[in-house]
Amino acid sequence: MIQTLSITDNPLEKRVSITEGEHLIGEFIGDDKGATLIVFGSVHGNEAAGALALQKIAARLPDFAPKLRGRVYFLAGNTRAIATGARFIDSDLNRHWTTENIKNNRPDSPIKTKRAEDLEQTELSAILEKILQTAKSEVYAMDLHSTSADGVPFATVGDTLRNRDFAQKFPVTILLGIEEQLEGTILEYLNNAGAVTFGYEGGQHFSGKTLLTHEALVWLALVHSGILEKEDLPDFEKHEEFLRETTGKPRIVEIRYRHAITEADEFKMEFGFENFQPVRRGELLAQQKSGAIYAGETGLILMPLYQKLGEDGFFLGREIAPFWLKLSGVLRKLRVGNLMHLLPGVKKSAYDEDVFEINTRVARFFPLQIFHLLGFRKRRQRGDKLIVSRRRHDTKSPFKSNSQG
Ligand SMILES: [Zn+2]
Repeated sequence: MIQTLSITDNPLEKRVSITEGEHLIGEFIGDDKGATLIVFGSVHGNEAAGALALQKIAARLPDFAPKLRGRVYFLAGNTRAIATGARFIDSDLNRHWTTENIKNNRPDSPIKTKRAEDLEQTELSAILEKILQTAKSEVYAMDLHSTSADGVPFATVGDTLRNRDFAQKFPVTILLGIEEQLEGTILEYLNNAGAVTFGYEGGQHFSGKTLLTHEALVWLALVHSGILEKEDLPDFEKHEEFLRETTGKPRIVEIRYRHAITEADEFKMEFGFENFQPVRRGELLAQQKSGAIYAGETGLILMPLYQKLGEDGFFLGREIAPFWLKLSGVLRKLRVGNLMHLLPGVKKSAYDEDVFEINTRVARFFPLQIFHLLGFRKRRQRGDKLIVSRRRHDTKSPFKSNSQG
């Protein structure tokens, strides 16, 4: 079934047409020893701008074919949901990439299912496996999203040094550590597979400006991944200027809290919150069945939910100073994290050398923030026990070694 969605206030090109099960919007192979850039659009089916932006760029890329120093893949995300205009059909495709689902929905898995997102995952897995297996240099993966509320665009980045380095090439505000809060995003799957990842929230779902920010971002990504030379892209400065204008002063913000919800909570955000709006500890943020929800700490409110479907009510974050970023880069390269088990109250897991157990009663003086600094992410907290694990592929690409063998 082919269905169309419209971007209401963009008078120019309005529609995205995607056929169910057909994910490949465009594939452009120049030098196959160069970098790989994978870009997803509309992993959430109600976010038409992503796939639409990719279609528009795919129409123009053949002009650049002789100049491509790598491989480019544009992929439509949840094709069945795009066809109905819904965020998802049975479950959120961007929470679907859990270890169990990845295994069950492998292309050769004997388990048969009719759930829409299982099928989507099987189709995407087949494409992604092939791309990753044939990569001879760095793999970059980007995912284009939009939001229900109006607001400035921003990038969501899992906190590895390689992700940071790539993201900081763009004039965008960066949210670090989202993968720690969300289970099963498509980018986390790719991050664990060794790719450099970059998520992007380009603005309000139906705004024409969102479409333009997505386009500008992907053009810049072609240059920042090394697939196109800056000189080969006549509009490079124009795209950069446009992103700078829509973003304002780029900031780096660390996510500290996620307000998880289910449909049964009957969550309702208080009116008028904008993304990155400062909030004070104790400020009323939302209402739900169990009562009023107040800010647990002073900081910035992120991605307040003003639509019906979703599992994240809002997030709270804090801006981090460039000094801490630099320091953390130095400490990670020195592999200071390897020594953490020498501290009182910290021990290495017997099963996995990248997992540490922290007794927070003993180790009160170095909370989670220090482990973040050293490249760890929180797995879970139970009572006094905090489990953290090292972020994989923090400083080294597993793909670059492929080309030497
Ligand atoms: Zn989305």
